[in-house]
Amino acid sequence: MINGKIDFRSDTVTVPTEEMRKAMASAVVGDDVYGDDATINELERLAAEIFGKESALFVPTGTMANQLALFTHVQRGEEVILPDNCHIIAHEVGASAIIAGAQLRSVPNVKGEMSLDLVEHYIRKDPDDIHQPRTALISYENADSDGQVRSLEYMKQVKALAEKYQLPVYVDGARIFNAATYLNVDVKDMAQYTDTISVCLSKGLCAPAGSLLMGSKEFITKARRKRKILGGGMRQVGILAAAGILALKEMSRRLQEDHDNAKYLCTSLKEVEGLEVYEERQQINMVFFRLKDFPMDSATLVKYMAEHDVRINGEDNGMMRFVTHNYVSKEEIDKVVQLLKDDAR
Ligand SMILES: *Cc1c(COP(=O)(O)O)cnc(C)c1O
Repeated sequence: MINGKIDFRSDTVTVPTEEMRKAMASAVVGDDVYGDDATINELERLAAEIFGKESALFVPTGTMANQLALFTHVQRGEEVILPDNCHIIAHEVGASAIIAGAQLRSVPNVKGEMSLDLVEHYIRKDPDDIHQPRTALISYENADSDGQVRSLEYMKQVKALAEKYQLPVYVDGARIFNAATYLNVDVKDMAQYTDTISVCLSKGLCAPAGSLLMGSKEFITKARRKRKILGGGMRQVGILAAAGILALKEMSRRLQEDHDNAKYLCTSLKEVEGLEVYEERQQINMVFFRLKDFPMDSATLVKYMAEHDVRINGEDNGMMRFVTHNYVSKEEIDKVVQLLKDDAR
């Protein structure tokens, strides 16, 4: 429960834990633009270590991490090859056209992956051709916003292809710890196949705000300067970093519980008449289903649930998504499933 409600809308609704609030209250802070914030410095050091990269940079949001990655990797007019339904294209208000001035070359996401043949086909082969833009970056998500995880083998293949054309790879790892939990590997094992990678601290990891961008020392130095351009140079931001440190150290270890709960939810939803549950898409903390012969439409269901103190999102392109997180228990899942069953509604 969060503030008296069961909330299945997203893992972004998670509030800081008691332990985080205590750490935030007593955090040693300073002016981070001067490099004086010891807690931010510790968070960035820790993140670099965990991801096996030279350096890390704290940014307020995952959107800024993505846009800063593009802004730092890509010159205006250069191309980024990325999946067509990714967050950068679908959920960032066209920012890459405004900030980096990048041209996005999108590749269809088939069963959760860009075909490597198509990616190779899209890479501009002649940088001296005066007509063609240059390819500057290959980017994809792991896990993606549809809750789908790319395998280590796929990550390795993308990296090998990028190296063949001397291109960098950026992975939007907003939910990289969920992906690593699903694959049962270390995030370092995944990050080795990227040049740069981000992670969001404020989704399943429960920090109130913040993402990190990781890469080489040289890249992060450039990104730090560009972050200032975006107005992202913050002051006593160790207050947030104190929660971020616990997110990385502690909360990243408990995600299997969310995945197990999602599996339990998925199995339980299959018993509800009128729903079509996409069991094969349940990999991390998300469950997808459609209202098939259900007696309520999506908007009515959202209202009905709200009347019972349950918050859900309505359908998106016909698809419903329920998300589990630190503040969803098995008992609460049982309650929601009971509300969906015909004897309750
Ligand atoms: C949530 C998310 C982001 C960015 O999130 P913010 O809301 O800006 O923090 C980026 N990429 C993916 C895949 C996400 O799920």
